[in-house]
Amino acid sequence: MDQTIDMKDIDKDIDAILKAYVAVNSETCTPGEKGAEAFLLDYLGNIPYFAQHGDHFGSYGIQDDPLERSVCWAMVKGEGEETVILLHHSDVVGVEDFKTLKRHAFCPDQLEEELKKISAELQPEAREDLHSGDYLFGRGAADMKGGGAIQLALLKRYSELHGLKGNLILLALPDEENLSAGMRAAVDLLAELKEKYGLRYLYAFNSEPHQRKSRDNGLISEGSVGKILAFVYVRGFLSHVGKVFEGLNPVPLLSEIVGRTELSPGFSDNVRGESAPPPTWLYLRDRKETYDVSMPLSAGGCISILTLDSNPMAVLKNLKEVSAESFQSIIDRMNERYAVFCGNTGRKPSKLPWRPSVITYAELLQEARRAHGEAFDVSYRKKLDAVNESIKKGELDLMESSFLLTDHVFNFISDLSPRVVLGFVPPYYPNVSNLLVPNLSEGQKSLAAMISDYSAKRFGQKYEREYYYTGISDLSYLAITDSAGIREELEKDMPLYGSAYSIPLEMIEMLSMPSMNIGPWGKDFHKLTERVYKPDLYVRTPVLLNRAIQLILSNTASV
Ligand SMILES: [Zn+2]
Repeated sequence: MDQTIDMKDIDKDIDAILKAYVAVNSETCTPGEKGAEAFLLDYLGNIPYFAQHGDHFGSYGIQDDPLERSVCWAMVKGEGEETVILLHHSDVVGVEDFKTLKRHAFCPDQLEEELKKISAELQPEAREDLHSGDYLFGRGAADMKGGGAIQLALLKRYSELHGLKGNLILLALPDEENLSAGMRAAVDLLAELKEKYGLRYLYAFNSEPHQRKSRDNGLISEGSVGKILAFVYVRGFLSHVGKVFEGLNPVPLLSEIVGRTELSPGFSDNVRGESAPPPTWLYLRDRKETYDVSMPLSAGGCISILTLDSNPMAVLKNLKEVSAESFQSIIDRMNERYAVFCGNTGRKPSKLPWRPSVITYAELLQEARRAHGEAFDVSYRKKLDAVNESIKKGELDLMESSFLLTDHVFNFISDLSPRVVLGFVPPYYPNVSNLLVPNLSEGQKSLAAMISDYSAKRFGQKYEREYYYTGISDLSYLAITDSAGIREELEKDMPLYGSAYSIPLEMIEMLSMPSMNIGPWGKDFHKLTERVYKPDLYVRTPVLLNRAIQLILSNTASV
């Protein structure tokens, strides 16, 4: 039987799909995302195969989603259990920085004309690319409706094959630019399809745009970086600004922790010569509500930490150590300055009473529970429900919610000496890499090399392989190890885990499959000059992705 699809005119198909897909403004976390679903269901419903097999495609609702979004999916069911998954996200980021060009953001042809009028304002590289005619501009053109259009055009061609050996599933996912609610729901869908049709998932391909290290070499990724958002809550000891040595201001302590962790190589995993981009603080404020002459009682912030092989437990341990060192250095500095102040004012110098104390959110909860038992539990549950209600209504974000809960627990704490409390805020993206997926076949292991060789022969272009896509992607939810340990950690120290946010961790571990990102070259994602490289979009990426699907589905004997 013939496993080869007809690639004739696929460039024209991709162009038409992409322009129609981009025209739908599916800005993440807005009702516009439903527009992408409608577009996809319409596209799929018009393919003869799916018109005949109405149960092989559809929308899969995300539970409790305030925007009632769904995952769009489609399956070309061939023979046997071997299955390849194609996935992409259907949401895009906003267009704030398009200024007067906002209304052209979703029409690549018009946008190109408009950009030419203001090309003097663009960065030199963007200007050069604009005039070269080699790039297609538009919101989502690169990130990632370009990759999505390639997948949709390939899926249609696979649906026209007779007697396909294996199965091909496509997932189009909402909310990737926010909390990946789409991919987290799609894990359940994949488990259901696996059960219903007896599928075996051999490989998943995402088609996020790649960024090149050098102009000449493409890049494919065999995994995706993890992302953990940790919160640091510092409870100080309040005093009047005229009596500063009687208090401990949480602001300098939090600042010290920020200074020691921001861009710190100590939080940047290194695996086989690849390093995670070091961490950065996304949120930082004291918790004082109005001005008065007291120092703030508490302050909090959130640090985003990207990981290659650290799990939440390891990150927490690291953060705990740095926080304790920061605490000690702040106390030392206060003592030094107090000694000078005492000298200047004829006071008898003495040591200040502060001791470093760094605890986890779970330890804080235990302390409150020990002191107040059932009364605390009842009150905490009530507060958690109220916070969740506000999150649903869009009145509270996940970071502020976590701090409000911490504030609430402190109402039940009798030891009010200063301390640092550490925990996590959603979302959590596990790091994933084929390096960590056990029992891969030779075919699965050598796929990246085979794609690169094929590309070199066919296009005269090499592809470099990296183990981790650093742009953060939905691939994070396709493999995990130690799901039980990670669940336990998140349940303990992520206050919103299990209510506003959860991850089907055990299911992910059960499904664990190798994955790869093969996407077109793109530049300036999330910016006005977002663009995708046409030779990749129309010619090379579809050929390479198709080659990858063929290699995996035809190689099944050795899997
Ligand atoms: Zn993306």
